[in-house]
Amino acid sequence: MPLLQSYLQDQWVAGEAPHTDLVDPTTGEVVGQVSTRGLDLGSALHHSRTVGGPALRAMTFGQRGELLEGLAKVIHSERDALLELSRTSGGTTRGDAKFDVDGASGTMQYYAYLGKKLGDKRVLLDGESEGILRSKRFVGQHLLVPRHGVAIHINAFNFPAWGLAEKAAAALLAGMPVFSKPGTATCALTHRIMELWVDSGLLPAGAISLLVGSASDLLDHVGPQDCLAFTGGSSTAAKIRGHAAVVANNVRVNIEADSLNASILGPDVEPGSDTFQMFVNQVVTDMSQKAGQKCTAVRRIFVPNDLVEAASAALVERLSGVTVGKPGEKGVDIGPVASPSQHRSVQEGLEELGRVGSELWRGEAPEGGCFVRPGLFRVEGGLEAPFVHEHEVFGPAAAVMPYGGSAEEAVQLAAAGGGGLVVSVYSDDPEWAGPVVLGLAPWHGRIHWGSRKVHDQSPGPGTVLPNLVHGGPGKAGGGEELGGQRGLSFYLQRTAVQADRGLLDRILA
Ligand code: NAP
Repeated sequence: MPLLQSYLQDQWVAGEAPHTDLVDPTTGEVVGQVSTRGLDLGSALHHSRTVGGPALRAMTFGQRGELLEGLAKVIHSERDALLELSRTSGGTTRGDAKFDVDGASGTMQYYAYLGKKLGDKRVLLDGESEGILRSKRFVGQHLLVPRHGVAIHINAFNFPAWGLAEKAAAALLAGMPVFSKPGTATCALTHRIMELWVDSGLLPAGAISLLVGSASDLLDHVGPQDCLAFTGGSSTAAKIRGHAAVVANNVRVNIEADSLNASILGPDVEPGSDTFQMFVNQVVTDMSQKAGQKCTAVRRIFVPNDLVEAASAALVERLSGVTVGKPGEKGVDIGPVASPSQHRSVQEGLEELGRVGSELWRGEAPEGGCFVRPGLFRVEGGLEAPFVHEHEVFGPAAAVMPYGGSAEEAVQLAAAGGGGLVVSVYSDDPEWAGPVVLGLAPWHGRIHWGSRKVHDQSPGPGTVLPNLVHGGPGKAGGGEELGGQRGLSFYLQRTAVQADRGLLDRILA
């Protein structure tokens, strides 16, 4: 039974017994073990701050971009083996594994390109210098410089490759060392990528650390220059935000949490039209891709009353062609959910959706392992509907909810989720969609507007792109990642320098 080790202070180190089992969710077989017991995480963070930080800050943005390009190539060069490991450690189909692994290398490539564009700079200017009061010589200039702490990344189980890479890309490019803690259930894939990176010899000493297993006392050792980026459930997020050392040191925190993403069909959309088909295809993709374990997957589907029958029938027809089964087998669209605990929680969620709504469709699933029968439900009650505006069933499940069709009601219903990562709107009528899109904006990090002219050009609302922000207000955590260069600012300190213009120009030249 392989015991996976953590990578701390530039060494592979094993935690002490008792160990936590890692399970292949397709078979239920134990495929590895981890433990963080007895590991000295305070010294590990100190090493990152004092060795990794200076090494990265000595590099220019361009050089850090080259590092990212190298790391992306390492992932790509072992792609097939990583896709296979994704299957045995996370139960993913090949398509789902590609989404994660190619998403990881693609995001790193994007930030590598950004690094090249920023070139030989080590400091970024934020806006232009401005004269202070009436002086032309005494000016203020905002600078962005790397913070001198560690970028601590705590990730969810659902994207073991992309989760590592999308956070590490922005932090490393900004010039901060990374300390990554993946979700334990699927950490074997993150661990393998880390092994490949270490073996490549590309990483400066102290630039990246990996902790496999529980977070242990990690947060007791955070300091005032550290940045903590978390992705996971809202109850864990609340514990992290309120952790005594995080609060005492005012650690910068970014939270990506639950999200009750909505899909809204406009009243102008004719059944069978390109826009209608786009809506149907994208809902079905979101329900089946990664067995619905995507933070951006649609959970609530709002359909005007007079389109509900047609939309439900079209969704059920498409879903009836979806196969749940063993990820390695041909023709399988949905694999198992990622772990036994996830299995319990999704089963409970599906049962609750069945209680608050009526079943439109349930798929079949193999016995054993962590398989669930996916489900589409119809839930009445609009704003007053129980469960659906509060609970995210993190699996292949969604609810169709009829509404009157007005722009105002569509916005109110989507906002009842309390703030989301992404919302999708399908309409060819700008008179209706205009107020919907602008009304939804304060409640969401991203809005995906599907319409006739782009029906065959969109990767779908569930795909997070490195050049657009990822994150959302309220329930979604209130955080923001990626968004191109915007993603660096979390790791950079914005400082206003007041000085003589000539002297300032000399140091910034
Ligand atoms: P989770 O249970 O909250 O765990 C997330 C991470 O936090 C894991 O690495 C976990 O470690 C760690 N953790 C747990 N307790 C901790 C503590 N007291 N201190 C420090 N770290 C702690 O979430 P999950 O089950 O992995 O993921 C599912 C949830 O994540 C869903 O609710 C989903 O909506 C959300 N999610 C959100 C996004 C987004 O971008 N907004 C993306 C993906 C997932 P262990 O694994 O060792 O317990």
